[in-house]
Parts: sequence; structure tokens; C-alpha cells
Amino acid sequence: MKGLVIANWKMNASLEAVRVFAEKWQHLPALTNVDTVICPPGPYLQAVKSAMAVELGAQDASAHVAGAYTGEVSAEMLRELGCQWAIVGHSERRAYHGESSRAVAEKAMAVMSAGLCPVVCVGETLVDRDQGRHEEVVAEQLKASIAGVSPEPLVVAYEPVWAIGTGVTATAEQADGMHGVIRACLNQVYGSESFGIRVIYGGSVKPENAGELFVCENIDGALVGGASLEAESFWKIAQAANAGSQ
Ligand code: PEP
Repeated sequence: MKGLVIANWKMNASLEAVRVFAEKWQHLPALTNVDTVICPPGPYLQAVKSAMAVELGAQDASAHVAGAYTGEVSAEMLRELGCQWAIVGHSERRAYHGESSRAVAEKAMAVMSAGLCPVVCVGETLVDRDQGRHEEVVAEQLKASIAGVSPEPLVVAYEPVWAIGTGVTATAEQADGMHGVIRACLNQVYGSESFGIRVIYGGSVKPENAGELFVCENIDGALVGGASLEAESFWKIAQAANAGSQ
């Protein structure tokens, strides 16, 4: 399966930062065996699109098509701006904006209807893991977050909440194990149609740990926060995914 690395810039960067990133990016060799996506803050989507050869994604999308939803942005608007991908259900949105798995499924359906690929995020908290409930929690969250969502095109990102932005990465064994659980779940829901769904890992991925993650059988790529803000660091992660999926 072709690798996939997605940069989640969160609410970081600036027009100047986009220019600096693009300037460095254009001198780095192109990678053929990995899809490389950047999800900048909405106001910088067009700047990223015109400055560099990467696929474009959004960090969120509305579940609604149009109407009186102040502050929201529809998937169709994102498509018009050139987005092919949209992250939905990131743990920061679940935690700070109270998004339920039902709401995440609705967003995923709206994204798909507009012709974009949803990247559905799931992950357990440290308390869930300490209590030994992590597999059950993630399986339940996943099933609810893809209820009614078709398997094509779909990406699932496993992002343990305790590993996001903390510098603590899940070990390759922990990540691969959970990806196996996710694969089994997808298989239960979609049968053989699940085989094309890429399952990517997110949580403090850096150039130093990317290689060991991407050699794992069940890990098809990464969703990268902090380490995606600098071009060379993100490229090195993409290069590791490129090598891991040969
Ligand atoms: C993320 O925001 O999805 C993420 C994984 O962040 P970080 O790589 O900084 O942990």
C-alpha cells in the first residue's frame, strides 16, 4: 500500500512561515511512494496550494452543506480551494469543542459527499490505557465515528491522546498492536472493502522515530503535528514512509 503522511499544522504558521517552508520544500527530492498532504490553518490553504507541490487538506469540515452556521466551513468550500483531504474528529476537537463520535461520522459523510477523503481520528486517553480499556475504547470510538460512512475513500488515524504534542510516542509495538485492532474492526464493518483503507499513526512522530513505526505491518503512514512545521523534518518523515512502503 502506498504510504501517506499528513502534516497537521494546527493553529500555527503565518504567510511568512508558508513562504519559508515552500522555499525549503522545493529543494528536497520528490518522493514517489508516499502521498504527502499538508493541512494548514484555513486562511493559508491558498498560499500553500500556490507555493508547493503537495496535496492539500483541511483540519476540520462542517457536517452541514450551507446555511446559518457562523464560523463553519463546508467541505464543498474546501474542495473549491483545492483540498482533497479533511481531518475529522481530531482529539483536540473532541476535547475542546465537544465533538461526539456521531458528529464526527456526520462530518466524514459530508466530506465524502463533497469528493474529499476524510481522515477519521480515534485514540484513547492515558486513563483508558492505564485501566487496560484502550482497545475496547478505540474500537467503540471507531465504530461510532464511521457509522454510515462508506469505506472509499477513507483513512483512519490512530492518535493516542497521551502521545499528541507530549513528546511521548507510542512504541512501535503499541502502535502496531492498536492498528491491528483497528484493521479487525474495519474488517468487521466493511468486510473485504476495508482492505484499501489506510491506517496511519499520530502522536509525537519525528524523523528519529518514523523509521521504526513505518516498518510495522499495520502502519501505513503518519499524521504529524509539531514535526511537520519545518520542511526538512516533515520531508524526512515522508522519506521514511516512502522507504517503509516499498
Ligand atoms: C496531531 O496533532 O495530530 C499530532 C499527532 O501532533 P504531534 O505530532 O505534535 O504529537
